[in-house]
Amino acid sequence: MGMFRYVTNRTLSNKAGKEDAGRVKAFVRNGSDTLEGEYKCPECGNEGKINQVFKKPINLKCEKCNFLMRMPKLKGKRK
Ligand SMILES: [Zn+2]
Repeated sequence: MGMFRYVTNRTLSNKAGKEDAGRVKAFVRNGSDTLEGEYKCPECGNEGKINQVFKKPINLKCEKCNFLMRMPKLKGKRK
């Protein structure tokens, strides 16, 4: 099928509860252990590249303000 074994594309809420304050678009290629992509930090608005070892749960850190962007599983509970 696809070239990717993992893909995510989602918005991130900030501490104040604004739901689409940030976003993450990332993927892992087949045969790779590297998560690649880009993000927009929901706290400071910094936009940066993602390039880190892929492991779950995914935790991304904003390069600018060090805000930790958590990505809980999308399955199941949705408001
Ligand atoms: Zn930030």
